[in-house]
Amino acid sequence: MPRFSYPCPDCRTTNSLHELDCRFEGTAWPTIEKAYTDCLSVLATSQTPVTESALREAVHGEWGELHKAALSTLQAVSRVEQDDDGTLRLLTAAEYKELVSEPTIEPMRTIYEHGSVPGCHDNAVFAMIAWYEMVDLSWAETKATVCEWLRESGAWDRGGFEESSPEELVESKRHVYEAGYGWKQAGREAKAVIDRQR
Ligand SMILES: [Zn+2]
Repeated sequence: MPRFSYPCPDCRTTNSLHELDCRFEGTAWPTIEKAYTDCLSVLATSQTPVTESALREAVHGEWGELHKAALSTLQAVSRVEQDDDGTLRLLTAAEYKELVSEPTIEPMRTIYEHGSVPGCHDNAVFAMIAWYEMVDLSWAETKATVCEWLRESGAWDRGGFEESSPEELVESKRHVYEAGYGWKQAGREAKAVIDRQR
């Protein structure tokens, strides 16, 4: 299983200090971590895909809002996949890595496929780094993946960068990874610019 930081399903904190308006305010982080590991341990040890109701029953203790939210987060970040028949399956480490390297949800898909264009480089690179941080790639993996994307999507050749290499550019944005910023806002802004130039 790749690294997973067990963020609060609402505010994404990874300690016991929640955002002011978080609906799990006051929940100690070990409790949050446990909600995830409850779900993951059932999914990881089951020989066959399990339905959500089977999962609820298999989770010892109470299945509550926190478990439900933790499961939704696991699905949102593609750790867990739900088939058409409703069964849940934990992706293998290799499947997961392949999947998250190529974002399939908007606005990330547009940014990934078309690459950044002058006028949105800051937001596009910010969003890509924040995305890979969210899906729990290490910094080294994030940097390598974003550099590869800058080259292969044609973004780097379009120019408009102050830095002399993709590596230098991505390194200068390491704070985005470390602060754990969200990708949605920057992603939306970057996509709007890309869409206008397509
Ligand atoms: Zn929270």
